[in-house]
Amino acid sequence: MAEELNAGMAQNFIHDFIDEDIAQGGQYAGKQVHTRFPPEPNGYLHIGHAKAIFVDFGTAEKYGGICNLRMDDTNPTKEDEEFVDAIQEDIHWLGYDWGDRFFYASDYFEKMYEYAVELIQKGLAYVCELTPEEFKEYRGDVVTPARSPWRDRPIAESLDLFARMRAGEFPNGKYTLRAKIDLASGNFNMRDPVIYRINHMRHHNTGDKWCIYPMYDFAHPIEDALEGITHSLCTLEFEDHRPLYDWVAENVSIPYHKPRQIEFARLGINYTVMSKRKLRQLVEEGRVSGWDDPRMPTICGLRRRGYTPAAIRAFSERNGVSKAASTVEFGFLEHCLREDLNENARRVMAVLRPIKMVITNYPVGQSETFQVENNPNRPGDGTREVTFSRELWVEAEDFLPEPVPKYKRLYPGGPECRLKGAYVIKCVGYETDENGNVTEIKAEYDPDSKGGDPADGRKIKGATLHWVDAATALDAEVRLYDNLFSDPEPDAGDKNFLDCLNPNSLEVLVGCKVEAGLADAAVSDRFQFMRQGYFCLDSRDSKPGALVFNRAVSLKDSFKA
Ligand code: ATP
Ligand code: MG
Repeated sequence: MAEELNAGMAQNFIHDFIDEDIAQGGQYAGKQVHTRFPPEPNGYLHIGHAKAIFVDFGTAEKYGGICNLRMDDTNPTKEDEEFVDAIQEDIHWLGYDWGDRFFYASDYFEKMYEYAVELIQKGLAYVCELTPEEFKEYRGDVVTPARSPWRDRPIAESLDLFARMRAGEFPNGKYTLRAKIDLASGNFNMRDPVIYRINHMRHHNTGDKWCIYPMYDFAHPIEDALEGITHSLCTLEFEDHRPLYDWVAENVSIPYHKPRQIEFARLGINYTVMSKRKLRQLVEEGRVSGWDDPRMPTICGLRRRGYTPAAIRAFSERNGVSKAASTVEFGFLEHCLREDLNENARRVMAVLRPIKMVITNYPVGQSETFQVENNPNRPGDGTREVTFSRELWVEAEDFLPEPVPKYKRLYPGGPECRLKGAYVIKCVGYETDENGNVTEIKAEYDPDSKGGDPADGRKIKGATLHWVDAATALDAEVRLYDNLFSDPEPDAGDKNFLDCLNPNSLEVLVGCKVEAGLADAAVSDRFQFMRQGYFCLDSRDSKPGALVFNRAVSLKDSFKA
């Protein structure tokens, strides 16, 4: 499937490193490239994760290797099974598969505990009892080393205390287990980092079995090594943690070589936020309708909005992989979607702000059908039937009682216009209610212009308009979206991202009129509503007989590459 969606990953610096490793042989000799994608199940995946997925799975794919999916669930605080399922669904939807290599980091808790005991036995870890305040105070600074009066605690005592920490004898925060590395290190991550803490909290996978939990920096290299990962690809914030990653891998006796950690830049996108904590806040405070709100940068939100896996993969591919942090324009993501949908979406007609038009010279009670092309880019997609009769719905903005300069659409005495796929018409008048609002447009059609071209070949000066037959039209609700934030950098500096929300990010149109054929639309279908943009059914709210469409993206592309 991956190959179908795009050509795969272009060479990048990660591949240069891997090529080097392979060329040098050593611990990588004869080994298959083995990566992992390690989400923490504390929220839904977002478009930033799609980049990591692309890098992890894509790199394995490129080298004919394998990629594990691992729930990095060592911190029970916000983790939940709901997220585990959603993460799997999203990765599959993006087109990647981990085969039978699905793991929970928490399945290794017993092993991690043993390795921690091993470190204590080797004199490389000790139980510390600094209070959080003392921790800060003893931390030192660039010129002053850190301190801990507990550093020389006898091994036997640390072993005993660590066992009792596990047994649940102590409250949260009373003790920690620290790796004994270097209190004077210029890298603060190496100043005897905490590797275990007490947390009396139920874990989604291990239940109440544990009340001590390993810290990420201790757990991650062990997870990687146990799974035989050769290249542990992560984002740049872990660069300063690499010495600790290497230290752990070297000092615990896992019967496997050291995995190599390589860091790449996170993906940022303007007009949105990308941290799960902030996305969660939007959900919990009801600022959006849920994790899958179509304005969210989550994979499920983008899917509901109408994004396709191919568009997201193309976006990831074309952004490239580097060490340089950058913020990509949201417009580029939209551009990638437009490219895909322009090629693949079925064309249909929908009138979003309808006004009735009566073809006064078309016989009452008559109707006919036209075959209209589904997709000019893909003739193989065939045609569909649309019905035509005396009363039609057209777009209110395609009519003006009085024309403005250069207006080429409907007004009394105005130019002839084409009704897409049907006939040439011209506006001959209109009706208003007692308040002067236009209630109906009157037009005449040229019976000798079936299909849209007049028999005498005369030039049609007006626009080509979309329309829907009033006799068969279906009602629909249509949701138009704009950026969730009105500020391009909602979480930059000391801004409160909640203050940057765009009050006009959702516009709901009711009473829209769509072609009768859309009654059979499936959630996975993508449509181009002629002249309006690309749309799909709303997977949550659309029901047979009460259709709801989301605009995935407008037609106009303002993005400049
Ligand atoms: P967040 O800050 O959004 O919660 P996270 O890094 O804590 O993100 P994890 O579940 O730990 O989320 O991430 C799983 C993997 O996805 C990690 O390897 C992480 O580096 C990567 N990742 C997360 N966000 C991005 C991003 N914006 N761009 C690229 N990779 C990302
Ligand atoms: Mg994380």
